[in-house]
Amino acid sequence: MEHETYEGLRRDDGLAGKVALITGGASGIGRALAVAYARAGVRSVLGYYPADPHDPDEVLAEVAELGGDAIAVQTDVRSYDSVRALAETAIERFGRLDVAVAGAGILRRAALADLDDAAWDDLLAVDLGGVMRTFRAAAAVMTGPGAMIAVSSIAGGVYGWDDHAHYAAAKSGVLGLSRSLAVELAPRGIRVNAIIPGLIETPQSLDPVNSLGPEGLRASEAAIPLRRVGRPDEVARVIRFLSGDDSTFVTGQEFLVDGGQTIQWPA
Ligand code: NAD
Repeated sequence: MEHETYEGLRRDDGLAGKVALITGGASGIGRALAVAYARAGVRSVLGYYPADPHDPDEVLAEVAELGGDAIAVQTDVRSYDSVRALAETAIERFGRLDVAVAGAGILRRAALADLDDAAWDDLLAVDLGGVMRTFRAAAAVMTGPGAMIAVSSIAGGVYGWDDHAHYAAAKSGVLGLSRSLAVELAPRGIRVNAIIPGLIETPQSLDPVNSLGPEGLRASEAAIPLRRVGRPDEVARVIRFLSGDDSTFVTGQEFLVDGGQTIQWPA
């Protein structure tokens, strides 16, 4: 969405010159966030997971085209050393870290009978442990006030979802983690909030095996008051709002970005 620009007007969101790290930065919501940040003058350190087919160079090119600055770093959020290296890259490359966004996530379909320890542990290690490790590594290098944003889901954050109990448990856990860190990090001026996306068209939701797939997404539109699924940038902009001076008195909160799906009286 392009807006008319007014030469000479300055943004007052406090974002220009800030540095953010984004896990899951090569695709979907994380990728859209790198672009949204570039438009606001935020420099980004993008964590990308090389085992997945997302090309971080495409994101870097898009950011560069907007006049932004970003760097991509291989990251596995299951490893503290890996996310620590991501956070340290922000300091080495840009001299500071102000914002950490834990966007990396995986979604797997598994009925309770199939939820053996490996299936449970593998998902929780990314979707819940990965958020904790990302925030822990960021907090270790952040020297001033700032913001952290976790990505939950309406699955777990609001609803139950059959065959996805591990995912819902992780996404519910992310909310307790965020609220607790909001209290713990408040004395440092670090605000911690969570986003609860509804159905957003990304590689994750387009996977017909583990998620809804293209047909399932279209079929779900009738249950969304805005009558469509969301775009990644519509989540990214809310994350951007939570990153800077437009939300300086907001911490420990959860933001539903779902087109009204969860507030509609069930038919
Ligand atoms: P996506 O699959 O495009 O993004 C997930 C990213 O996480 C990918 O870039 C992937 O490479 C990365 N990743 C996976 N395993 C990793 C690991 N071990 N270490 C580091 N990175 C890893 O899908 P998305 O929808 O943009 O997902 C972003 C976040 O939004 C996820 O946490 C997801 O659960 C959440 N979410 C998505 C939706 C939706 O409808 N798309 C809804 C609610 C919540």
